[in-house]
Amino acid sequence: MAGIAVIRLSGKAAFATVTSLTGVLPAPRKAVRRTFRHPDTREALDDGLLVTFPGPHSFTGEDVAEFHLHGSLAVVRAMLDVLSGMAGLRLAEPGEFTKRAFRNDRMDLVAAEGVGDLIRARTERQRKQALHHALGGASQVIEGWRRDLIATLGRVEAAVDFADEADVAQATVEDVRRRLDDLISRMRTALAEADRAASLRDGLKVVLAGSPNVGKSSLLNRLAQREAAIVSAIPGTTRDVIEVTMEFSGVPVILTDTAGLRPETEDEIERIGMDRTSRELASADIVVWISAPEDRSGPPAELDSETLWIENKSDLAGNSPEGTGAQYRISAKTGEGMAGFFAALEERVLRMAAHAESAVLIRSRHKQISSSCVENLLRASAQSADHLELMAESLRAAAYDMGRLTGRIDVEDILDSIFRDFCIGK
Ligand code: GDP
Ligand code: ZN
Repeated sequence: MAGIAVIRLSGKAAFATVTSLTGVLPAPRKAVRRTFRHPDTREALDDGLLVTFPGPHSFTGEDVAEFHLHGSLAVVRAMLDVLSGMAGLRLAEPGEFTKRAFRNDRMDLVAAEGVGDLIRARTERQRKQALHHALGGASQVIEGWRRDLIATLGRVEAAVDFADEADVAQATVEDVRRRLDDLISRMRTALAEADRAASLRDGLKVVLAGSPNVGKSSLLNRLAQREAAIVSAIPGTTRDVIEVTMEFSGVPVILTDTAGLRPETEDEIERIGMDRTSRELASADIVVWISAPEDRSGPPAELDSETLWIENKSDLAGNSPEGTGAQYRISAKTGEGMAGFFAALEERVLRMAAHAESAVLIRSRHKQISSSCVENLLRASAQSADHLELMAESLRAAAYDMGRLTGRIDVEDILDSIFRDFCIGK
């Protein structure tokens, strides 16, 4: 039960229903006070606010009316009883208002999904991410991709007719490749961000890595404030991957301890652990690389700039990490330096989460289709000037992918509009 209940009507019968319950239709989009009456007996059912939104400028694109009632079960039931007895009215199915909004071009599929996520959002950050999509922020970016793609396709198709003129074909191919490279790189950036965005739901992945025995498990335990990992003085003990889930200011974080990375090992089991470590590193959002006075090797070159390098065991005599690339000095044993390192890690986690809030691609559906689209774009880009027809075909396949993403697979209309003010050689 809530203070106020809202019953929403959408469709052809909406305004006729309003008239038969409340009399004359009020001015659009203005909340007015009305007594809601039974259409036949004129008995008063409730007294509340009425708002009307004439189509097509409404949420669903149809005529929409809202009754704001007193929120008691009895009032809502009485209203619903009366409404469901009226001609042309039935209860909406789950998601039906949004589905109609999509059908009536009020929003695309990506925005509609955002509305769904918004309804389900549990945390503040999930709410922001969903709202960004629901308000069309992501759709706008995708629409930009699609426009560029269709314009490029237009160029190729126009050049097909001049395929005999080698210099026209060559100039077209060069121009088209430039455009495609740019589009592909933008889509790839969005795909890379998609993983981070998914992390916002499932948890950002922070991986602790470094040579055996530098103190990874000890650090994990200190971070997790509990004995989650086995700490041992024998190198190579952490053979399996250990995960601990934590939260940094509302962002879920999965902290992972890995087996040490040692280039050559005879031990079969340790070998398997190291293979897993490499996989963990590849899927990490943030890598924390740990070294210690007895082994000061730095992170592998392939790790990116998001790697945090810390030197552990600062409590040991003769430990002066100057000259190494370590950014922080800590002791997992005494706790020295932990606050500074922890703050740096938290700052990085929050920065990544903030990025994820405005990510364009967030669902696996978005990722799959976009990946397929990028593949088609690459295929198009690889064609030579002798095969403009094949290039156009790959671009059409890419455009179809883009359409599947937004739920708008009608490219012909856009093609028409582009060709209308298209002149050859431009
Ligand atoms: P891992 O193989 O990298 O996971 O290392 P462990 O966490 O298992 O630690 C290896 C050894 O180093 C253990 O004997 C720990 O007690 C010790 N160790 C870990 N951190 C520190 C530290 O900050 N100072 C000192 N003196 N010893 C540490
Ligand atoms: Zn360990």
